[in-house]
Amino acid sequence: MSRIVMKFGGTSVADLDRIRNVARRVKREVDAGHEVAVVVSAMAGTTNQLVAWCQQLSPMHDAREYDSVVATGELVTAGLMAIALQDIGVDARSWQGWQIPLRTDGAHGKARIDGIDGALLIARMQMGQIPVVAGFQGIGPDNRVTTLGRGGSDTSAVAIAAAIKADRCDIYTDVDGIYTTDPRIVPRARKLPRIAYEEMLELASVGAKVLQTRSVELAMKERVRVQVLSSFADADGGDLPGSLVVDEDEIVEKEIVAGIAYSRDEAKVTVKRVPDRPGIAAHIFGPLSEAGINVDMIVQNISDDATTDMTFTLSRTDLARAQAVLEAQKAEIGFTTLISDSAVAKISVVGVGMRSHAGVAATMFKTLADKAINIQVISTSEIKVSVLIASDYTELAVRALHTAYGLDA
Ligand code: ADP
Ligand code: ASP
Ligand code: MG
Repeated sequence: MSRIVMKFGGTSVADLDRIRNVARRVKREVDAGHEVAVVVSAMAGTTNQLVAWCQQLSPMHDAREYDSVVATGELVTAGLMAIALQDIGVDARSWQGWQIPLRTDGAHGKARIDGIDGALLIARMQMGQIPVVAGFQGIGPDNRVTTLGRGGSDTSAVAIAAAIKADRCDIYTDVDGIYTTDPRIVPRARKLPRIAYEEMLELASVGAKVLQTRSVELAMKERVRVQVLSSFADADGGDLPGSLVVDEDEIVEKEIVAGIAYSRDEAKVTVKRVPDRPGIAAHIFGPLSEAGINVDMIVQNISDDATTDMTFTLSRTDLARAQAVLEAQKAEIGFTTLISDSAVAKISVVGVGMRSHAGVAATMFKTLADKAINIQVISTSEIKVSVLIASDYTELAVRALHTAYGLDA
């Protein structure tokens, strides 16, 4: 007997038939003698709609009210899932974040989990009742509902798995595993039976949406075994094997590049002709950081007339705010103009093999050059190379790189 967390994403609970299908899948695990806790997302499209409503009323809305709105999607699916389970004879009840409680910090809209008391859930599971937990939500120090950032149900699932000391956390989604890149844009992507925590962490952080970055971070820290698999494949038989996120040394055949990710959620800002003197970076990036805006890639050029251009990238959703912050500081920073571009995408190649193999970046640059794709900004880390390009070339770049690194199936 094992104790498992089964998490179902939006497309897996998109309508009542799919909810019934998922309930049968849960029952199968229960009938096999396992202790199961379920974590659910909102029905596909629901969270987008809720976010859009907040935006339409007011782009600068109160994040606490945003949370009280967007957290409702998961409440619906948790209740419906409990009903579907009861309907096929499985004892189940829904749990909202605050009822567990799943405590978070006060960063509304992108809260971090502080702690979960698993005792209540464990007691119910031992009595044979299935907890169905509403993902993506918690309760902050102000006693108000918080949400964990888009895709946050993955993090709820891993955190619950750690709190109840589960043997495994199964993330059911609309693809049957973790691939070398997004299988929706590269049909020749290959499924990875295993991927190292560190590689998955980098891939998620540069745009591979299959797992939320924080869920991987937490799994790595709490030693939770995470498996990604499809909720559609083989509904009534045995599960098809998915992908496991594991320690590096559990992977026998290591590739130099494990995967490629892209993100279209980027924007580029150039601050023109700032004085080239000590403290200028602090003048520009200090106020942005105080406004809670994360800056990603940065380039500064040297010029011979004592001024320079500073270019950086940030999340597209923060662009308007960043422009407002910088315009307000224009006199202090001393720039002439601010240029922004949201038609950009970041393409990244990731692999632990880069630590010991040279030439990964060179291959990337040559491949993009052969396709006449211009590189606007470059950044690297120990196991990753990222470039910023025009977003129109996203698919072309990812496919060409996938072939260049020998990843095609
Ligand atoms: P869910 O609603 O189940 O959480 P998501 O849409 O958040 O599902 O994540 C699954 C999606 O992630 C897939 O449909 C796929 O398009 C995308 N994806 C991006 N990169 C990868 C990858 N490397 N492997 C698998 N899926 C990926
Ligand atoms: N429903 C939330 C979202 O769409 C959380 C999740 O699906 O993980 O972002
Ligand atoms: Mg997701």
